[in-house]
Amino acid sequence: MNDKNVRVRFAPSPTGPLHMGGVRTALFNFLFARKHNGSFILRIEDTDQMRFVPGAEEYIIESLQWCGLHYDEGPGVGGPHAPYRQSERSAIYRQYAERLVNAGWAYYAFDAPEELDQKRKEAEAQGKSFAYDALSRQHMKNSLSLPESRVRELLAAGTPHVVRFKMPPDEEIVMHDLIRGEIRVKTSTLDDKVLFKADGLPTYHLANVVDDFLMRITHVIRGEEWLPSLPLHVLLYRGLGWEDKRPEFAHLPLILKPNGQGKLSKRDGDKMGFPVFPLQWKDPETGEVSMGYREQGYFPEAFINMLALLGWNPGTEQELFTLDELIQAFSLDRVNKSGARFDPEKARWFNQQYLRKRPAPELVRLFLPVLQSKGVRADENTVERIVETVRDRAVFVSDLWDHSWFFFQRPETYDPAIVKKRWSEQMPEWLSSLIAHLEKLTSFTAPEIKQAIHDFAEAKSIPAGNLMNCLRLCLVGSSMGPDLALICEILGTEEIKQRIEKAVAVIGNGVH
Ligand code: GLU
Repeated sequence: MNDKNVRVRFAPSPTGPLHMGGVRTALFNFLFARKHNGSFILRIEDTDQMRFVPGAEEYIIESLQWCGLHYDEGPGVGGPHAPYRQSERSAIYRQYAERLVNAGWAYYAFDAPEELDQKRKEAEAQGKSFAYDALSRQHMKNSLSLPESRVRELLAAGTPHVVRFKMPPDEEIVMHDLIRGEIRVKTSTLDDKVLFKADGLPTYHLANVVDDFLMRITHVIRGEEWLPSLPLHVLLYRGLGWEDKRPEFAHLPLILKPNGQGKLSKRDGDKMGFPVFPLQWKDPETGEVSMGYREQGYFPEAFINMLALLGWNPGTEQELFTLDELIQAFSLDRVNKSGARFDPEKARWFNQQYLRKRPAPELVRLFLPVLQSKGVRADENTVERIVETVRDRAVFVSDLWDHSWFFFQRPETYDPAIVKKRWSEQMPEWLSSLIAHLEKLTSFTAPEIKQAIHDFAEAKSIPAGNLMNCLRLCLVGSSMGPDLALICEILGTEEIKQRIEKAVAVIGNGVH
């Protein structure tokens, strides 16, 4: 393969938000392009006006940006084959549909939608399904069944018509897929697909093949759901005389539901409580909101890393990859044929790993707005120490608050179970002598604090466990949180003293 020539495209239809399967397709195209120093192109396939959803294209572009999958050519970026939005290329396609008709690879079909409906109903009544194919086309209203003069009349009168592909009868098509190897399909199982619609626009099949050719695409990497279209596409290349320029094909495995039963659907996420979309999406028609990885607090790097391993493996035990490492390691040979089960827990695990690796100042920068939203003001150095103390417990930046709020706010309540179990009548007195003892320390750092608490308990013959539990109760309100001495170090003696006083005032002698 001549690396310089590699050109791949991600070709979504803006019929809704991009599902994580779509992002994975974009990712694999991106990785393949970067690995081979080729070009990654975004092409918007919006010829189906019936399914157009406002905001979907912007959503797709924003998602790719968030994921760091920057494209070399496409809407907003331009390139030598602009425009990259099929609705702006509509003048291009008709000539190719005509070329296929003239070469005997396609024909005009004048059947009205009601007539087709009628045929479908008739077939259904006999327990069959209607197919417009090599067998039925002779009985339909088209340029193969009607006399030439009638066809000319109908065309001259501007009769609405479509162009259909004339599927050759009884041929076995042998195709090669870079992931699945050889695939054979008999044309007798295929129907005559519409290539060009009565509205003057091409269907997906024609526009997709024409654009892949015109944009000099070398490899088509797309989801498995497009595999059934492959024979038609291969034949279109033949019919258009481009067989020697045909790209190579790679169909990616499906992403399966967490239980492995069937394809992960757009609905699954909200049902099972995990995102399936990269960004939050609000349905413009129903107003229904679906959660997004970004809004749930995932780092884009973690999301991408998780997606890369859905259907691809590096052949080693390595799981954590930067985008550059993925580019180095990626190859289509290591993409699996079988479906990849999505594991939401694993997605969280990836985020946790990335959170652990993030430099503390960056976490602070991300955490400050959370603190602000809680009405907390704190200096960055203290926040950094706190973040360092609790980061290993968090999966998301927002979790940092749950694990550290007590550094910023005094507890309002005290866990009654601990009061009952550990508090005693002497406890207020013990705690106030303890704080007096701690105030005398010359160096107020965790190891000294820990030692001092133990020495104090021993000297006074107080059970150290109870003392420490109650001190934690005063500082945190419960038994949670990191190392007690560390909490003390960060809070400082003055704050500890005030918290003890408050707790003692609320709990009293503990007997209520
Ligand atoms: N427009 C198709 C889609 O929405 C593109 C399929 C392909 O890549 O050929 O997925």
